[in-house]
Amino acid sequence: MDLGIKGRRAVVCASSKGLGRGCAEALAAAGCDLVLNARGAEALEQTAADIRAKYGVNVEAVAADITTEEGRAEVLKAAGEVDILVNNAGGPPPGMWSDWERDDFIKALDANMLAPIAMIKALVPAMMDRGWGRVVNITSQSVKAPIGVLGLSNSARAGLTGYVAGTSRQVAGSGVNINNLLPGIHATDRAVSLDGGVAKAQGITSEEAKVNRCKTIPAGRYGTADEFGATCAFLCSTQAAFIVGQNILHDGGGVNATF
Ligand code: NAP
Repeated sequence: MDLGIKGRRAVVCASSKGLGRGCAEALAAAGCDLVLNARGAEALEQTAADIRAKYGVNVEAVAADITTEEGRAEVLKAAGEVDILVNNAGGPPPGMWSDWERDDFIKALDANMLAPIAMIKALVPAMMDRGWGRVVNITSQSVKAPIGVLGLSNSARAGLTGYVAGTSRQVAGSGVNINNLLPGIHATDRAVSLDGGVAKAQGITSEEAKVNRCKTIPAGRYGTADEFGATCAFLCSTQAAFIVGQNILHDGGGVNATF
């Protein structure tokens, strides 16, 4: 399917690996030029080179921490005016509801609420002026159904979701669509780390933790970054022009809910 976004320019934050990379690859496959970002320069440059070689699009790579003002300034400088923004950053660490202090919450809010809001505020006005834009925020299934050990994620992502719910409806009339894409468990480094945490807590192997988790997912497996990226690219397509302020679960049925 032609997504109608060939030649569009996209910023994909936190995209050297995992779900961000999946989104970058799917946008490149649709013909978008890219600005990629991650903190580690080596993996980022490799990903940029792989995508250039595979899809023949222009790719710039900015090694910076997207959760800091300085990091965002570097990404925004390289980005210039863009048509598509995919917001992403690493997820907060797991723990107990009673563990976290103010600083832990501030870190989580910076990464998973305030960074994407800052990127939206920086890039959406020019999209509105040009009458076309797409923003996809990678959040989490924890927005729909809380994950006990990920209280920092539950909290920060709920804040972003509320902001997007109101903002998306204020900018839609200018041709800019903002939506959230909510991953359930996907086979990325983040999943390996979460399974490692469960294994340690329960005295089992990571492989056993993964098998146990798969039993809780109706699809019976972890999602892939490619599948996730394809859904992201669709939300950025011309065909998705009437999808506004939605929270799209990509979880193999993991969240047991009617809506
Ligand atoms: P991942 O495999 O660990 O990849 C994270 C990517 O983000 C890497 O490219 C990493 O590169 C980059 N990154 C991390 N922190 C960054 C920062 N501060 N600034 C710039 N780049 C940064 O993670 P993932 O599984 O793709 O997860 C992506 C997001 O989805 C996370 O917020 C995660 O919590 C959420 N999520 C994931 C799952 C899942 O099952 N995978 C489920 C629900 C929610 P560097 O380390 O080099 O910066």
